[in-house]
Amino acid sequence: MIRAARLGIMGGTFDPIHFGHLVAAEEALVQFNLDRVIFMPTGMPAAKAHAAVTSAEHRYLMTVIATAANPDFDVSRMEVDRPGVTYTVDTLEALRDAHGPAAELFFITGTDAVWEIVSWKDADKVADLATFIAATRPGYDLDAARAANESATTRFAIEFIEVPALAISSTDLRARVAERRPIRYLTPEPVVSYIEKHRLYRESI
Ligand code: NAP
Repeated sequence: MIRAARLGIMGGTFDPIHFGHLVAAEEALVQFNLDRVIFMPTGMPAAKAHAAVTSAEHRYLMTVIATAANPDFDVSRMEVDRPGVTYTVDTLEALRDAHGPAAELFFITGTDAVWEIVSWKDADKVADLATFIAATRPGYDLDAARAANESATTRFAIEFIEVPALAISSTDLRARVAERRPIRYLTPEPVVSYIEKHRLYRESI
């Protein structure tokens, strides 16, 4: 495994991955001077225990084909292959072991997920292991988010980035496919083809 000094970990369910995710990862890479970004599709997402989620293998493969052309992006199977519910603390500990104590870990994900972070498994350990980069959609009150974060009695280091392309959402893509509306130009063309080939999202959201 390549040792990186500043490592971005793009955590998400990616059901499916779309251009908003790709732009957010690129934005984090540049703004935080990261060496690379590892996309980390969840296996069995902790926050979605009772929700229908597309198989981890499909989500992983769509993430691979969406990121294949970018030399700064990798995709990890770590969470897909780990049995049981996916907890970020396990992932961050494994990455810390693999990359050594000198590496700085930056966990990038959606702001709505980050606000729940205090309830994540072993939240204290999570706080010690990484800086969090919360990607926000248009219309998000960033000043309020930063103020709330600063005033909260939290040990978490959270940075916020504004990503206009996050007007695109996986929920909307799934709804579009179910309603036979187009998703072209919302996610890379090979992902559109993959979704068609495997007839994903056709039944419902
Ligand atoms: P989610 O609830 O599906 O997503 C919440 C919001 O954030 C959605 O609007 C989503 O938009 C957006 N989002 C998700 N991932 C994103 C990303 N990488 N970049 C930009 N926006 C993103 O979140 P989730 O997928 O379940 O969880 C997100 C991450 O937090 C995962 O890595 C998960 O493992 C971790 N997490 C850990 C715990 C725990 O350890 N206990 C608990 C909850 C979450 P889209 O639907 O368009 O992506």
